[in-house]
Amino acid sequence: MRFESKLPDVGTTIFTVMSRRALEEGALNIGQGFPDYPIDPRLGESLVDAVAEGHNQYAPMEGVIALREQIALKLKTSYAIEFDPGTEITVTCGATEALYDSIQAVVGPGDEAVIFDPAYDAYEPAVRLAGGRCVRIPLTPPAFRFDWDRVRHGLSDRTRLIIVNSPQNPSCTVAERADLDALAALIRDRPITVLADEVYENVLYDGRRHASVLAHAELRPRSFAVFSFGKTLHATGWRVGYCVAPPELTRELRKVHQFNTFSIAAPLQHAIARYLAQYPDSWTGLSAFFEAKRNLLAGLLRGSGFEPVPAAGTYFLLVDYGALSQSSDIEFADRLIREAKIATIPLSPFYATAPKMTLLRLCIAKRDETLKTAAQRLLAFATRR
Ligand code: PMP
Ligand code: GLN
Repeated sequence: MRFESKLPDVGTTIFTVMSRRALEEGALNIGQGFPDYPIDPRLGESLVDAVAEGHNQYAPMEGVIALREQIALKLKTSYAIEFDPGTEITVTCGATEALYDSIQAVVGPGDEAVIFDPAYDAYEPAVRLAGGRCVRIPLTPPAFRFDWDRVRHGLSDRTRLIIVNSPQNPSCTVAERADLDALAALIRDRPITVLADEVYENVLYDGRRHASVLAHAELRPRSFAVFSFGKTLHATGWRVGYCVAPPELTRELRKVHQFNTFSIAAPLQHAIARYLAQYPDSWTGLSAFFEAKRNLLAGLLRGSGFEPVPAAGTYFLLVDYGALSQSSDIEFADRLIREAKIATIPLSPFYATAPKMTLLRLCIAKRDETLKTAAQRLLAFATRR
C-alpha cells in the first residue's frame, strides 16, 4: 500500500538522535535536557502514598482539582493574579501536550503561525498537522533579540498564532517586558492568539525577573501559557505539565485535550498536589540552583576554545567552538561524541534555514561532578586537537 506522509521531511528529534548516539558511543550525555540527579525523595514518597491510597483510576479530564488548586496558588505567588482552577487551568502530558493542544485549538487549514528561530522543535510539526504553516522569523544574533519590525512584516490576514518562548530554548535569552508590550501593540487589532512557552519561568539568572504573558494585562486575555513540572520538580519523565488560559481559550484547548490524552496519570497528579501543599516553596530556589551550575560550567570552559555565550535563563548553556573548528555544528557535535565522548546538541536543527554558526547547546541540569567531567573532556579535546 502507498500512503503519503503528512510530515515527509520530519525525522527523529535531535534530542533523541543525540541521546541515542551517546548510548552507542558510551558518551557522557549533556545534550538532551534532563537532570542526572534524583528528585526530592519526599516527592517520590508522595507518589508511593498516592498509589497506596488507591488513586489509580482515571483522573478528571481537566486535571485533579487538588493539583489545579496548587497550580493556582503557585501562579498567585509568582504573578499576584488569581486564576480559576475550574475554567483556566488544565493539566496536560508535559508541556508538549499543552503546546500541541493549543495549536490544534486555534490553527486551521491555511492559517499561519509565527515562530522565532532558533525554535524549539515541537512547534512547527504541530502547526503543520493542524493544516497551517509557520512563518519563521530569526531572533537577531549574536544576542538573539526580537526584531518586532520584522515580525510586523511577517504578519498576514491568515496569521492566527504567535508562539513566544521565554526563557528561550535553545538561545538561553529572555523576553523583556518591552518585548511583550511590542507584541501586544502588534496584535492589538488582529485576530491573533499568543502561545507562550514558559517552561523555564523559574530559571532566570543574575536577578532577572520573568516577564510572563500572564502578568501582562493586554496579553493575558488572548494567551495560552504553558508550563512543566518536568522542569520545576526535576522530573522530566513524569510528563506532567499544564496550560493556563482564559475560559474561552481553555474551553477550546480541552476539546482537543480530551480526545488526545483524555487525562493525565492520576497518582502523579495527586503526588505533585500533595508535595506542593507540603512544600510550597520547593521551586523558589531554582534560579540560584541553576545559576551556580551555569557559573561552574562557564568558568571551567572559559578560554578553552568552547567559549560560553552569556545565558540569561533556561537550564542550558551555549558554547561557541569557532576558535577550534569551522566544521558544521552537526559534524562537530558528532566528532565530539566519538573523540571526546561528550554528547551535545547542535543549533542548526532549530532553524528553517540555519545561518553559518558554530554553537552547541549544553545542559547544565547535571550533578557538579558531571559538569566537571564534561569540562575536563572538552578541555582535553581542545588541547590535543
Ligand atoms: N518547551 C520547551 C522550550 C522545552 O525546553 C521543553 C522541554 N525541555 C518543552 C517545551 C517540553 O516540556 P515537557 O517535557 O514538559 O513536555
Ligand atoms: N526539551 C528537551 C530539550 O530541550 C528535550 C525534550 C525531548 O527530548 N522531547 O532538551
